[in-house]
Amino acid sequence: MKLADRTSRISGSPTMKVTATVDRLRRSGVDVIDFGAGEPDFPTPDAIKAAAHDALDKNFTRYTPAAGIADLKRAICDRYKADYGVDYTESQVIVTAGGKQALYNTALSLWGPGDEVITHAPYWPTLTEQVKLADATPVLARTHADDGFAVHAQAMLDAITPRTRGIIVNSPGNPTGALIAEAELKAIAEVAARQNIWVVVDLCYERLIYDDVPHNLPKVLADTCPEQAVLCGSASKAYAMTGWRCGWQIGPTAVINASSAIQSHSTSNVTSIKQKAAVAALLGSQAPVTAMLDEYRKRRDQLHAWLTADPRLRCRKPAGAFYTFVDIGDVLSTDGFRTSLDFADALLEESRVAVTPGEAFDAPGTIRISYATSMELLKEGSQRLLEFVGKHAPQTATA
Ligand code: PMP
Repeated sequence: MKLADRTSRISGSPTMKVTATVDRLRRSGVDVIDFGAGEPDFPTPDAIKAAAHDALDKNFTRYTPAAGIADLKRAICDRYKADYGVDYTESQVIVTAGGKQALYNTALSLWGPGDEVITHAPYWPTLTEQVKLADATPVLARTHADDGFAVHAQAMLDAITPRTRGIIVNSPGNPTGALIAEAELKAIAEVAARQNIWVVVDLCYERLIYDDVPHNLPKVLADTCPEQAVLCGSASKAYAMTGWRCGWQIGPTAVINASSAIQSHSTSNVTSIKQKAAVAALLGSQAPVTAMLDEYRKRRDQLHAWLTADPRLRCRKPAGAFYTFVDIGDVLSTDGFRTSLDFADALLEESRVAVTPGEAFDAPGTIRISYATSMELLKEGSQRLLEFVGKHAPQTATA
C-alpha cells in the first residue's frame, strides 16, 4: 500500500501512547498510577461550564466564522492586554482547536521545503513533527540539566544557517518546566528581526509559573520583532480544558489571514459552544487558575522531597508547567535497564506506575513525571517508584 511520503517522516505522539497504554490497562482492571498525563486532573471551573450550558440552551450551535467569534477574539486580546500590557487587534487573532492547531497553522503558514526551523531540546515532540509535516527540517539546540535546561539565545543563534526560516521557543517548557529569560528571548528576537527569521513562541503553560519571575514574552516580541513573531496559546492547561480543544494564534495579520484560510479548508471553526465557554474563562474571575497553581506548587514541592530521598533520581523543582523531569542516568546500567524506555516499560509492567520515558522528548536517560494528579496518588506512585529503583538498582558507590 502506498501512502503519502509525509507519513513516513512522522510518528504518532509518544506522550499520547503512554495515555493509551494506561487506558488499556485500566479497562482490563489493572490499578495503574498515571504520571504520564499531560493534563490537569481538575474539573473545568463551574463558571466556564455554565457558559457552555447557556450557549447550548440558547442554541448557539451553528457554524461560526472559521477564525472564531468576535467576542472570543476580543477576549483573547483583553486577556493579553491585562496580563502583559500588549495591544493586539482582532485581525491578529485566530481561535484554534487547542494550542496544537495554533502551532500547526503556524507551521503550515510559515515553513516549506528546504527550510530549517530551530528549537531547543529536550522538546515536546509535536513541535518538531509539525515542522516535518510542513516539509521543513527541525534543527536542535541542546539545553542541559546542569543549568536547569535553560534556553540560551546563543545556542539557538549558533544554529542559524542561510536556510533558517524560524525559531520556536516553548516556555514554560514541556518536558523540562524551564522558562526562557526575557533577555534571552530579546537577543533571539533582535537577530530574527535583522535576518527576517520568524520567532514562534509556544505559551501553552504561560499561566503555570510558580514564582514571581519576569516572563513577559509577548511584550519582548511586541517591542523587538512584532512583524516576525507568532504566539500560540491555549485554554487547555490554565483552565483545565484539555478536552474542549481551545487555543489561539496571535501574529501579524498576513500570517493570521493565511492560517485562517488553511483552517477554513480543514477543520473550520472550533465548536461554537466551546467558544462561549472560552470567553467566560478568559474574562471571568481568574481565581480558579491561581487555586490550581497553588495546588500544583504544593505537589511539586512534595514530589521533589519524595523523589530526592534517592539521590540517584536527580531532578530540580521546575519553574513552570506540571512536570518533574528526572535524570535517571545513575540507575541505568549495561546489566540492568539500559535505557529509560526499558525502565519505564518495566516500571509500568511491574509496579503499575506510568511515566513518560525521555526518549519521547529526545532526552534518553530521563523520565518525565506529571504531577497533575492527586497528592495521594503522587505519594503512592513515588513510593512504588522508589521501591522499584531500590530493588532493580541497589545503591552502590554512585550515591
Ligand atoms: N505546547 C506544549 C508544550 C504542550 O505540552 C501541549 C500539550 N501537551 C500543547 C502545546 C498543546 O496543548 P493543547 O492543544 O491542548 O492546547
